[in-house]
Amino acid sequence: MTFTTRFAPSPTGPLHLGHAYSALLAADLAARHDGRFLLRIEDIDQSRARIAWEQQIYEDLSWLGLSWSHPVMRQSDRLPRYRAALTQLSALGVTYPCRCNRADIEAAAGAPQEGVPQFGPDGRIYPGRCRDRSMSDASPDGVIRLNMKAALKHLPKLKFTETSEELGGQISLDPEHLVTAVGDIILVRRNMGSSYHLSVVVDDADQAITDVVRGADLFESTQIHVVLQALLNLPVPRYHHHRLIRDDAGKRLAKRDDARAIAKYREDGASPQDIHARLGLTPKP
Ligand code: GLU
Repeated sequence: MTFTTRFAPSPTGPLHLGHAYSALLAADLAARHDGRFLLRIEDIDQSRARIAWEQQIYEDLSWLGLSWSHPVMRQSDRLPRYRAALTQLSALGVTYPCRCNRADIEAAAGAPQEGVPQFGPDGRIYPGRCRDRSMSDASPDGVIRLNMKAALKHLPKLKFTETSEELGGQISLDPEHLVTAVGDIILVRRNMGSSYHLSVVVDDADQAITDVVRGADLFESTQIHVVLQALLNLPVPRYHHHRLIRDDAGKRLAKRDDARAIAKYREDGASPQDIHARLGLTPKP
């Protein structure tokens, strides 16, 4: 299988240094293995995605010296594929429709209890109010969740290969952690037809990605993805979680931190070599 990495930005704001780091590492890893580097536009959230941001992504990445195969996969073109994956999960009896809004979830969560995690990779851990609802109750544009406990019952012990030096090796998933600290994640968001987790798993498989390069902040999400891959019978790529790029004060860069946008560095006269240097990377000759 051809060694294949990808960079999968959401066109909801400017790319910043953290994105550049992910993209450059992924491309570099592919080059070192004589492999392929793909770009995927993660635009399922059509309320936030903008064509202008997508255009800017192409420009920034080209300026950094990256190139990728065409055509570029765009998630907004793939809703039927996500729907099919959801049907597959539903047939296993591990999904349910959820009618809760934020306030319902807050109210159902109740007072914090010592030692019980309240927040997971997707925010507030869902307290399970709709867990017994049947899929026949699902509305066309409504939220669908994964029943994590029921899902794990179907599965043997899960693990994945981590290739970063810091975390390297085989990582085993802890079912107890997944149930209590991750919980019933969203498979389909309201009016979106999918979610980050469902789409990314289906896309990585359809693009035959062998090596996912992403920030260490997505380590918990990777565990969700490994669960979904097992349920959907998809191959598990190797994962490389890289360090997070911080600003000079040591604060993590957020997407809204436009001061660190690649476009801003470009405007200020920086060269692609300057960006490599700022990230501690050696540019290709
Ligand atoms: N669209 C996600 C992001 O920009 C992709 C992350 C990933 O799956 O690697 O954070």
